[in-house]
Amino acid sequence: MEDRLDDNKEIIEQILSIKEALGEKLIILTHHYQRKEIIDIGDYRGDSFGLSRKAAADKAARFIIFCGVHFMAESAEILSQPHQTVQIPAVEAGCWMADMADRNTVEKAWEELTSITGEESVIPIVYMNSDAALKAFCGGHGGTVCTSSNAEAAFRWGFSQREKIFFFPDQHLGRNTGNQMGFPPDKIIVWNPSEPLGGNTPESIKKAKIILWDGYCLVHTRFGEEHIMKVRKKFPEAKIVVHPECTEEVVALADACGSTSFIVKYVENAPSGSTIIVGTEINLVNRMALENPEKDILELHYSLCPNMFRINLKNLLRAMEHIGETNVVTIPDGIKRNARKALDRMLALPGSDQN
Ligand code: SF4
Repeated sequence: MEDRLDDNKEIIEQILSIKEALGEKLIILTHHYQRKEIIDIGDYRGDSFGLSRKAAADKAARFIIFCGVHFMAESAEILSQPHQTVQIPAVEAGCWMADMADRNTVEKAWEELTSITGEESVIPIVYMNSDAALKAFCGGHGGTVCTSSNAEAAFRWGFSQREKIFFFPDQHLGRNTGNQMGFPPDKIIVWNPSEPLGGNTPESIKKAKIILWDGYCLVHTRFGEEHIMKVRKKFPEAKIVVHPECTEEVVALADACGSTSFIVKYVENAPSGSTIIVGTEINLVNRMALENPEKDILELHYSLCPNMFRINLKNLLRAMEHIGETNVVTIPDGIKRNARKALDRMLALPGSDQN
């Protein structure tokens, strides 16, 4: 253990000395689910929405190192300036949910879906947790991107454009957003890409207002109703807050539900002495517990994102030693252009400047 701490100390010193030498030429962005030692080194921490805004706004840095998963680094690359390079310390830091929808399968579904509804009736909205090609698909079909911070604003915008929304890949964020907006269950259907018409009838498709891809986050669907029941019994005074990638059953039993930024603010604003039980990624829960010592911040259930955990001090140091050269995120121009359109529409959504 002591050896590991010494190793870390040495690596941290090396990282900080490169950081100091590069000064304003470098910005390190860190997602809330990163381990503490990475967060401590970063210049800016946030959720995927906050980080994408930061990447779009920063014009001074020549190098952006993105400590998060690959789709986030791709979005930073799409929004960055031509003189900037974006690096990710571990290229293998993917996302299971993003992998549940690829461009070919979504295009096939779009053709089937619009053969029933007509293209003018449906707008595609893609969750940030998706690869650049899907964002480009949305950009090319008049759609937008959303994150868990602005899903409702994106859906409201979508309905101002067309009659129905086709949302992918996270069915739970889509359903929780639809529920929050007051849509009854028969207006929300799931599209299973391995079945004809996504497993739906033409009638149910015509009736639906929201069509959800059959994808989910394995980290957030690990929380079950049984976990809520258990903690309610043990801590009757506690408040429970969960992320909207959880199932609607879990959301219904919680006291509050919101994006990663919402959860961070919820914990910060809770009165001293209170107990908050949090249903999201464990690194964030543990850090909030450390940063709010006057409150009891507990996990709803242990759930770690192994993809986020692939970023560590060693691969961060490697990226910094080969600044602008190793693990550079690149996206073909055609994809980048259309993906940018979709991301720009997201950044222009009402309230996007207040997140
Ligand atoms: S927490 Fe879920 S959605 Fe987020 S990166 Fe990990 S697997 Fe993907």
